[in-house]
Amino acid sequence: MEYRSYNVKSFKKIPQIQTYLSEEEIRDIEIVSQVFPFKVDNYVVEKLIDWDNYKDDPLFRLTFPHKDMLMPDDYERVKAALDEGDVNKLKNLVNEIRLSLNPHPADQLSNVPEINGKKLEGSQHKYKETILFFPKQGQTCHSYCSFCFRWPQFVGMEDLKFASKEVEVLIEYVKAHPEITDIIFTGGDPLIMGTKLLRSYVEPILKAKIPHLKNIRFGTKTLGFWPYRFTKDKDSKDLLNLFKEIKNTGYHVAFMAQFNHYKELETEEVKEAVEKILDTGAVIRTQSPILRHINDSAEVWEKMWKLQVQMGMIPYYMFMARDTGAQHYFGVPLYRAWKIYKEAYSKVSGIARTVRGPSMSASPGKICLQGVAEVNGKDVFVLSMIQAKNPDLVGVPFFAEFDENATWIDELKPAFGEKFLFEQHLFEGSLVYA
Ligand SMILES: *Cc1c(COP(=O)(O)O)cnc(C)c1O
Repeated sequence: MEYRSYNVKSFKKIPQIQTYLSEEEIRDIEIVSQVFPFKVDNYVVEKLIDWDNYKDDPLFRLTFPHKDMLMPDDYERVKAALDEGDVNKLKNLVNEIRLSLNPHPADQLSNVPEINGKKLEGSQHKYKETILFFPKQGQTCHSYCSFCFRWPQFVGMEDLKFASKEVEVLIEYVKAHPEITDIIFTGGDPLIMGTKLLRSYVEPILKAKIPHLKNIRFGTKTLGFWPYRFTKDKDSKDLLNLFKEIKNTGYHVAFMAQFNHYKELETEEVKEAVEKILDTGAVIRTQSPILRHINDSAEVWEKMWKLQVQMGMIPYYMFMARDTGAQHYFGVPLYRAWKIYKEAYSKVSGIARTVRGPSMSASPGKICLQGVAEVNGKDVFVLSMIQAKNPDLVGVPFFAEFDENATWIDELKPAFGEKFLFEQHLFEGSLVYA
């Protein structure tokens, strides 16, 4: 399949759009994608979306903007500005709306590391063992997921963007930090880069032979959205060879794949791609947020985890949709997410119970709802941190008042009149990565 991608300007050329969508629905996509980024490739359009049922199709919901992603008031204002045709007015309005949507949740800008007076603009070091690296040319994706918390990167909100100029400063930093064992290439999607370019980032790291560095990870959606990257693209063999080389140099290659629905696992293309990746010695771990309209049922997660294990992948995280962008549209209450997680978890065998969740990536760390407990006749949430800026807090249970509707940690109240663990200790620990 020849790669083709569509955006707000070109999506009307997609034949299925003309066949299935009403004028009004097409207009809605145009309006909403003034604010949120929109891009979709022809594999998603032709192989993943069931156009006969597109209104409820999870992959359609995942990639195509929907009217309800904007608040009614914002929707009307964008629509009016578009109709008016005043480009500057529209630009200012769109910017105002974007800024009101918490474009940088969880203090992402405050985790930018520094070495010898140089800032690593394209990196983030929040958790002791692991540094995120955002190669400059990997700051886009094959198709945009409409829930994505990195959406400001794709709409040109420049000062909110992470992107790396060079890998040399990263190497200097990692060398100086013996606690770092993992580098995660992320984005956008680092596998959007051609293999030659990706090599130019990876090879200097291998050559640096940093003794404490053990794991090279790639966070990617390419396996779900463009599996040909590993099978038929002209530099696919070279990409697989690069994974092998990393592995043969002595590193663990961790392929962190994002799958949001089991439908993404069912094509022949993805099955072939998974086999090819596993053949290189890389290990594929999977993660996804839980999203309304897309995967908010236990059946979907149960089937997804089972299929993943059958295909040789390891279920890793269930995330809560972050408090950014269209969270009101995708957000599932924490309690409901936990019930879905628990039901699906109880129906899979032990080898799929490697998954953790539902987890919120917040400023203090990854906070997981472990369950609901009754203490002195009162229901409370039992929470714990899977990752924390202060590693002393990892794995310590703490409590919040039961709240059926809360969708994020900032809506929860500590139980028993205490402060939350991370509020007490955030600035006391020996290792605080701010
Ligand atoms: C989730 C995350 C990581 C990786 O955490 P693991 O639990 O090791 O997968 C690293 N850095 C940041 C900022 C993260 O949010």
